[in-house]
Amino acid sequence: MQRISAVSEMTAWSREKQRQGETIGLVPTMGYLHEGHLTLIRRAKEKCNRVVVSIFVNPLQFGANEDFAEYPRDLSRDENLAAREGADVIFAPLVKGMYPQGFHSSVEVEKLTDRLCGQARPGHFRGVATVVAKLFNIVGPDQAFFGQKDAQQLAVIRRMVADLNMPLTIVGVPTVREPDGLAMSSRNVYLTPEQRQAAPVLVRSLREARELIGQGERDAAKIGGFIRQRITREPLAVIDYVEIVDNDFLQPVDKLAGTCLIALAVRFGNTRLIDNMVVEV
Ligand code: AMP
Repeated sequence: MQRISAVSEMTAWSREKQRQGETIGLVPTMGYLHEGHLTLIRRAKEKCNRVVVSIFVNPLQFGANEDFAEYPRDLSRDENLAAREGADVIFAPLVKGMYPQGFHSSVEVEKLTDRLCGQARPGHFRGVATVVAKLFNIVGPDQAFFGQKDAQQLAVIRRMVADLNMPLTIVGVPTVREPDGLAMSSRNVYLTPEQRQAAPVLVRSLREARELIGQGERDAAKIGGFIRQRITREPLAVIDYVEIVDNDFLQPVDKLAGTCLIALAVRFGNTRLIDNMVVEV
């Protein structure tokens, strides 16, 4: 496996592989890889001849009071893990390589970014869409792989690719969880032992809501209230949002119909965790 940090070298590598008729899968990450990321890499290996894993903690998608400086980083550990999964390239550009002096452009996906995490994190999805568009242009992948764990991000990327006619396929990969159900996240390392023990309340409340829906409940306010009540019982959990929206445009629904997304964000101390569940009725 190769490590590439220069943008021009990454593009040259991809062009050469594609000239040889090979397909390229891209797995964009911020590093500190865990089993969720490794599952994306495996999926990419199944579907493409070559796999590029990008590792870039993107300053554009962090707010002023967020954890950009503290975000966990360990490139040599990530390299070993990605190599073991058979990735061909780790693309780890420098911030000044991605955003050189004079950089002034951005990609804004409207409507889908106002709610859910967009409300608490203004500018976050502009940062995400911008860096992902750049990665697509630099690597030129045939397919790119994103986790359902970040459901709003996945919807925003799908919208951007469709709206801007980007010539690649987006593949969504189901959320990978710890044995007790907690969605894997690089941020789980911030949790104290007590918070870690409390955190599976998120997935439990989603699973209980699924049972309620299975019994015929379709009223979004009732389902949302049910989840809030379950989470509020956990004293270490502070709800940021619990929302039920349509899966494409992420607009609130009154009654569940078609494909809906139940999404939530909850704080445990300073750590904000997200989780979600797609329901088809
Ligand atoms: P991140 O490094 O957190 O930006 O995540 C990089 C990619 O991995 C994104 O597409 C995430 O949605 C995906 N990802 C993160 N955690 C998980 C998980 N637990 N299961 C599946 N995909 C995940």
